[in-house]
Formats: sequence, C-alpha cells, structure tokens
Amino acid sequence: MIAHLAIFLCTLTAMEGVGYLAHKYVMHGWGWFLHRSHHEKHLGALETNDVYLLALALVAVGLIAEGNAGHDPLQWIGAGVAAFGVIYIVIHDGIVHRHWPVRPRPRHPYLKRLYHAHLMHHAVKGRQNSVSFGFLYAPPVRRLKQQLRQMRRSGEGQIPNR
Ligand SMILES: [Zn+2]
Ligand SMILES: [Zn+2]
Repeated sequence: MIAHLAIFLCTLTAMEGVGYLAHKYVMHGWGWFLHRSHHEKHLGALETNDVYLLALALVAVGLIAEGNAGHDPLQWIGAGVAAFGVIYIVIHDGIVHRHWPVRPRPRHPYLKRLYHAHLMHHAVKGRQNSVSFGFLYAPPVRRLKQQLRQMRRSGEGQIPNR
C-alpha cells in the first residue's frame, strides 16, 4: 500500500515536469494550432485546447484499465495522471480562468502565486517568448516580471501595451 501511494505521488510530481515540457515544447511548438484557442479570446465553453485534456484523460484511463487487468502498478500511475488532470482543471480552469459558474477566488498564498504566474503566461500574445509554463509550481512573480522585461528590452517579446 505504501509503495502504491509512493508511486501515485511520484507520478503526480513527475506530471508537473511532463506538463511543463509539453506546454513549452509541444503546445507552444508544433501543437500550437490546438493550444492557440486558449491564448485567444474565449468564445464558448469548449476550446480546441481541450484536446490536450482529453488526451491526458485517455492516458489515465488506459493505464488504470491495464493495471486493473493485472499489470500492477500501472493503475497507480494512471491515478497519478488523473489526479494531475483534476488538480489542473480545478486550478487552471476554475481558479485562474474562471470558466465556471462558481468562481472561486485564490486566497491561499500558493494559489495566488499560481494565479499571478499564469496571468504572466497569458500576458504575451502569440506562441513565442512566453514565461511560466508550469501548472502546479510557479516561480516567484517577481522573477517572471523580470523575464518579461528582459524580453521586451531585447525586442523579441510581443507584449501588449497595457
Ligand atoms: Zn500556453
Ligand atoms: Zn491558461
């Protein structure tokens, strides 16, 4: 049981790294055509970016099914992937972007930091020169602001004059 719990927690932690890399190099890379909808004005309840969430759900379900079919401990890895997806939906869609009818406000310092860091990610329009690609860990907002300023100074960023 302890080993299973450890596998679950390790997967959850590792998923933050996987998510960071996928967001930076896939979603802002060749997969931009799907992620782009998330960086534009929100029109409906769903966006093409949700395809990534669907892919994550399929991976989780597949792993859990394989584990239950006898390939222990794949179900615990699947549970870690699923937990990451659920936490991501609550924090990213619920608290940061407030896509829900009930709009929880970030009060805890950790949530506030995630909130501001992700707004920094959306401060840059377009695919390139963005900052803060993580979901559950965010660098201090001060550092992100510094990064944005550096990009603006070097003339590479496309930061709106707001
Ligand atoms: Zn993005
Ligand atoms: Zn976002």
